[in-house]
Amino acid sequence: MAALEKDPVCGKEVDPDAVLTSGATRFSHEGKRYYFCGLLCRNKFVANPEGYLNPEQAKT
Ligand SMILES: [Zn+2]
Repeated sequence: MAALEKDPVCGKEVDPDAVLTSGATRFSHEGKRYYFCGLLCRNKFVANPEGYLNPEQAKT
């Protein structure tokens, strides 16, 4: 069983192996791959990656 990846938007754990079958999805950002429970979370992340990766920096 593969390690679970954390959805940076909602915090849910996503199984990378299930991406193609469960409705989960992924996105590459600055050379790193992120996994999401669904398109809604993916779209939120794509619109504002730094806001999810560095919430404190993004506030300024
Ligand atoms: Zn999610």
